[in-house]
Amino acid sequence: MMEPFRNEPFTDFSVAGNRRSFDAALRAVKGELGQCYEPLVGGKRVSPPPRWIDSYCPADKSLLVGKVGAADASLAAQAVQAAWDAFPSWSAVQPEARARYLYKAAALLRRRKHEFSAWMVWEAGKNWAEADADTAEAIDFLEFYAREMERLAAPQPLNRTRGEDNELYYVPLGVGVVIPPWNFPLAIVAGMTCAALVAGNTVVLKPSSLTPVVAARFVRLLQEAGLPDGVLQFVPGNGSEVGDTLVGHPLTRFVSFTGSREVGLHINELAARIAPGQRWIKRVIAEMGGKDAIVVDRSADLELAADGIVASAFGFAGQKCSACSRAIVHRDVYDEVLKLTAERAERLAVGHPADPASFVGPVIDAKAYRRILRYIETGKSEGRLVCGGDAGDPAGYYIRPTIFADVDSKARIAQEEIFGPVVAFMRANDFAQALELANDTDYGLTGAVYSRDRTHLERAREAFHVGNLYFNRKCTGALVGVHPFGGFNMSGTDSKAGGRDYLLLLTQAKLVSEKW
Ligand code: NAD
Repeated sequence: MMEPFRNEPFTDFSVAGNRRSFDAALRAVKGELGQCYEPLVGGKRVSPPPRWIDSYCPADKSLLVGKVGAADASLAAQAVQAAWDAFPSWSAVQPEARARYLYKAAALLRRRKHEFSAWMVWEAGKNWAEADADTAEAIDFLEFYAREMERLAAPQPLNRTRGEDNELYYVPLGVGVVIPPWNFPLAIVAGMTCAALVAGNTVVLKPSSLTPVVAARFVRLLQEAGLPDGVLQFVPGNGSEVGDTLVGHPLTRFVSFTGSREVGLHINELAARIAPGQRWIKRVIAEMGGKDAIVVDRSADLELAADGIVASAFGFAGQKCSACSRAIVHRDVYDEVLKLTAERAERLAVGHPADPASFVGPVIDAKAYRRILRYIETGKSEGRLVCGGDAGDPAGYYIRPTIFADVDSKARIAQEEIFGPVVAFMRANDFAQALELANDTDYGLTGAVYSRDRTHLERAREAFHVGNLYFNRKCTGALVGVHPFGGFNMSGTDSKAGGRDYLLLLTQAKLVSEKW
């Protein structure tokens, strides 16, 4: 019997011993960069793979983090077949026994916490605290979904009727294709993969090509935890070739995707087409982008609001789906909040994430770097540049925290997801207009309101149309089990990762009724 779920604590880096051990992990991992990782299909490493993906450090463009074997369409199809072949035996494993693989993996990950975090510093450019939080969240997902499976495996409440025995069971779906993004290279990979597995499904995992080494190392950890061969396949590869093959395959039963709106909608459309021989409607869980707003009311604690905007907009260089990219401020306090936010943003240290003094690291790759700088150029004609607006050290993909003021709600930088350290300030005449502006987007992922006015908070509770709404705190940093996470509208299917509804999406309920 396990103790009740508790969130994994974050490492306190003000403690010298913790700093020393994290630094040691960073150096140890640096010595392991450049290794090769093959795809895994049916429990066998595919060697040589059809091709290789090179993963470079975004903070130091010439540093090779690793080479990861990529699948082609044929290997992707073999991976689905291998998962299909393993499904009968894995789905017959008792739910409590499946949960134990997750508990074991969580224990292994906890022991090697700094090592995994260090890999994220090198491969994703996360600073110490962000990397540590990513690993803690991965541990949380394993611990949480294991307990969730135990809960779902218990007898379910039904209205009982005399003369009959009625039971409802949650049974697995089949082969799941798991497609995570790069920005939580461990937590989202672990959460999406292990939720599907513990529910009794077999999985084909296609990681992001930008952070495949962290994913490969997590797959090895699951093997170390004893996961049977064939239950999990690992097939890195190109989205349009490997991704489309996996999504379109007739034996694929569901797709669990987290990433951009564009790719999510494409997957949704492709999965809706019935392939020859397919016997089900594929289920698609798609968690997508955001254009998240923080509303600051005139009654707010303005210092607290500025802290929240800075943390939400510039943490991990704004590369979170939950990042604040719009600050909507009551006109009476607009100038003050803008000033406080800009002062704080100017003070943020931009630099190599291996340096504990850095707060803002690089953006993920050359493509993102160019895209964000293009948005900044657009912003210069759509608003007033208050701070930032340019690149940092050319050794990595650094962009300085950027604030634009007086942006119109219909401007491109107020409507399109930039996914970088850029925030647009907008002025609202009153609280009602602030909420209107906050909802003036296709997305609906996170949002926050800073206010001391109870009637305004109650109004926002109803009218602010987002999946995760926060009051008097930042709009990033959802905790597993505490803030189940998922968005409305074009932000996705609102699966509420880390919540009690999540495993239901990966199972189907079967009712068995026996008349005596
Ligand atoms: P992306 O859409 O570019 O890629 C996501 C994944 O899809 C990657 O593994 C990629 O290789 C794969 N892919 C690309 N084309 C494909 C295709 N045709 N078929 C199948 N798979 C394909 O997104 P990204 O850049 O990795 O991640 C950033 C995006 O993710 C942002 O929009 C962000 O808001 C979003 N995100 C959302 C959440 C959430 O919970 N809502 C969490 C994290 C990130």
